[in-house]
Amino acid sequence: MSTQSNNSNIQNSQENSLGFYGSHGGQFVPDEMKARLNEVADCFNKYKNDKNFLAELDDLYKHFCGRPTPIFYCENLSKQLGGADIYLKREDLNHLGAHKLNNALGQLLLAKRMGKTRIIAETGAGQHGVATAAVSALYGLKCTIYMGEEDIRRQELNVLRMRMMGAEVIAATSGQKTLKEAVDEALEAFVNDPESFYVLGSAVGPYPYPEIVHHFQSVISFEAREQFQTMTNSLPDMVVACVGGGSNAIGMFSHFIKDKDVALVGAEPGGIGNKIGEHAASLVHGKESILHGFKSYVCLDEKGEVAPVYSISAGLDYPSVSPEHAHLKDIGRASYVAVTDEEAIKAFFILSKSQGIIPALESAHALAHAIKVAPNMKGKKILVCLSGRGDKDVDQISAMLKENKIQMS
Ligand SMILES: *Cc1c(COP(=O)(O)O)cnc(C)c1O
Repeated sequence: MSTQSNNSNIQNSQENSLGFYGSHGGQFVPDEMKARLNEVADCFNKYKNDKNFLAELDDLYKHFCGRPTPIFYCENLSKQLGGADIYLKREDLNHLGAHKLNNALGQLLLAKRMGKTRIIAETGAGQHGVATAAVSALYGLKCTIYMGEEDIRRQELNVLRMRMMGAEVIAATSGQKTLKEAVDEALEAFVNDPESFYVLGSAVGPYPYPEIVHHFQSVISFEAREQFQTMTNSLPDMVVACVGGGSNAIGMFSHFIKDKDVALVGAEPGGIGNKIGEHAASLVHGKESILHGFKSYVCLDEKGEVAPVYSISAGLDYPSVSPEHAHLKDIGRASYVAVTDEEAIKAFFILSKSQGIIPALESAHALAHAIKVAPNMKGKKILVCLSGRGDKDVDQISAMLKENKIQMS
């Protein structure tokens, strides 16, 4: 029953009904989209704790995804840092190399229950697109992925992987031609085709998506909390996860929210600086606004419009963030820090060399924070969500090495 039992946690951080987390979240969309979203919500509420549904999902987690993923104690790295002990939750060991599949599988089962025949998804770096293409292939459903034209150019390999699994990849050609535009076009396609189901890739969007994604990703901390106790006879003192839209982080935090002594820290992409356009740290630098049908912290420019965002890590550069994280920040239950490109690259090399694990550049942001604070936390334990593996980033790192932009330290 891996996805059950986080309802009390949802209640904890959710003050009002219908998708509000304090002042954030909600459903700021036209009426016709509201009707479609509420159809999805009804299906989710009907099946989220249904025995047969959960049994089917658990079977897929076990046999298709490779769950449960282990917890790993980084002995070499911990010794090297000389402070806190560092542990990793190995989401990089999932099929396709990241946590994205946890959510794509869950949403696909909902689509099937609703009798939908076409799957729609947005993707940024392509990781969610690949996961959605895979589960659509598994269930023989037609799959259309919306991806920014700029991202299609940068992520050639993932585009090919999606096509190999039978998905159609459509270029979003407006604006910055990246993730924000891909979401705009995917939402529009969803409303225009009543036979479609929109598989949203992060804990963002209008109600019910933040709640759905939290539910399916909470399998991470459902496993991790128990595994950590079995391994160490204690709970971690600090849990760290990187935050793009916030799905691996909310999945990693979920079952620890009620453990008040466990510090929860989200690592946002600090990019190359604090100015507009130099980062994508919506919680650290953003202001409350509405984007893509929900209210949360958004990176805005001087005019109050959505700012261009940047991160070295293509999976983190979204200008807003999960409304639940916005609320956890407001009530002080979690804290959020901006980690720079430089710090993330350093952590990428440190983990590769010390433990033989190449992390995704996204996950390296979380790791970088742990590396920064560990020396002053002797006797404590830090659990880091290693959201994905770094094989996909090796080409990018290679190019930067060749141009002498970075050093292999
Ligand atoms: C997509 C992705 C992320 C960022 O998405 P979240 O919804 O914030 O988790 C982080 N790590 C990896 C490996 C990813 O593929």
